[in-house]
Amino acid sequence: MKKLYLQTYGCQMNQYDSERIARVMSRMDYEQTDCIESADLVLLNTCSVRDKAEQKVYSALGRWKELKERQRQVIIGVGGCVAQQEGANLLRRLPHLDLVFGTHNIPKLPEMIEQVQASRARAVEIAFYRDPSYMEDPDGRIHVDGAKAFVTIMQGCNKVCSFCIVPHVRGREVSRPSANIIAEIESLVDQGVKEVMLLGQNVNSYGKTQPRELSFAELLKCVDAIKGLERIRFTTSHPQDLSPELIEAFATLDKLCEHLHLPVQSGSDSVLLRMRRGYTRDEYFARIERLRNRCPNVALSTDIIVGFPDETDSEFADTLEMLKQVEYDEIFSFVYSPRPQTVSAKIYDDNVDGEIKKDRLKEVQNLQREISLRKNRERIGNVEEILVDGKSRLKNGQMMGRTRSNRIVNLTGEETWLGCLLPVRIVGATANSLLGEIVKAEHVSGFQSEGEVA
Ligand code: SAM
Repeated sequence: MKKLYLQTYGCQMNQYDSERIARVMSRMDYEQTDCIESADLVLLNTCSVRDKAEQKVYSALGRWKELKERQRQVIIGVGGCVAQQEGANLLRRLPHLDLVFGTHNIPKLPEMIEQVQASRARAVEIAFYRDPSYMEDPDGRIHVDGAKAFVTIMQGCNKVCSFCIVPHVRGREVSRPSANIIAEIESLVDQGVKEVMLLGQNVNSYGKTQPRELSFAELLKCVDAIKGLERIRFTTSHPQDLSPELIEAFATLDKLCEHLHLPVQSGSDSVLLRMRRGYTRDEYFARIERLRNRCPNVALSTDIIVGFPDETDSEFADTLEMLKQVEYDEIFSFVYSPRPQTVSAKIYDDNVDGEIKKDRLKEVQNLQREISLRKNRERIGNVEEILVDGKSRLKNGQMMGRTRSNRIVNLTGEETWLGCLLPVRIVGATANSLLGEIVKAEHVSGFQSEGEVA
């Protein structure tokens, strides 16, 4: 077997793509290694959503120059969003690089590697495809370990948010055929998967660009009907596409977890307009009120950008106000970063002072920490179901899992619990996680546990 060293930067979509890269390469007899020195093939799967992520790519690639000088035979490649954005420029800029493959070109990797091996000629593939078949694995069967799996349902984005590079590096929306998605999830469930995360840049507009395809809410209904599956999650959604049918799905589908990530970006109408988000603060709020009416337990998370061009103190104050009004369970917050090809980078100066941006980020995060801590503390005493999915990052000997509302719970437990759905009593809380204790299954009325409990 040959050795593949694969490093991933960025979001869950990139992690999923890396899993695909590993599968495609295993068909060429490559197995993954953690040791870069012993690798025959070194690949970096990249993200360019913010400048910081892109700079990380260049530093990693810079370090790999020495590797190539020591081992001339090693093949070094870059994939993902930076590869898509820069294409052949990367080869010009980095002479030690052998190949560059874009976000739609993972199935081309074997051919590209053979080309490099045969002629030592460098290879670039960054074409976009409208036909969704590029999202399928060649042998159509995915092998997994563990109880959780990602499933891509669509790629690309047709929205025109002025700050966002995604449509430029992931292309226009393309949805995978629902029959393939359902067959893939059935096969995952046969292999022991209990929870699927449906992935896409804009999952709730699933199906819109494919004639006669199911809507996202209809797809969720079909996935919910798959026997043996326990939990469904999805990310990321756009507020414009939070339809009444999707809200109804949260109220009626047992397996759909009570958590929605719905990026708001700003609480100021004037900033939302400059961002070209297509909704006002009141429209966003009305939608989540409708959702909360139908599904009162739903947890909400969001993304916030601070320091968007021309953002005034009063516009920023509107964002703080929005956080207080909605009371999100979790937020991901970012400092605005102008991205190549985007409208905001072309028409606005990045004119909010760096120190002000940092202060605003800190203020948003401090406020949210208070809200998250309060909301987490309210759960103390509850019994919640968790899917145990790893060892705790906090303490040796502790395990961790997630509630249906996507909260992390750390608990004293055993590795044999991995992959089990277990009832836990919440006994402590911080802003970022909960502390739990296992509950004997028979003490929890109506609770179906498959795991061995203490
Ligand atoms: N589909 C999502 C949406 O509704 O906007 C976009 C997902 S993007 C990969 C993740 C987050 O990165 C965005 O929600 C946004 O908060 C942040 N982001 C995107 N572009 C950015 C930029 N130019 N500067 C700072 N943050 C950015």
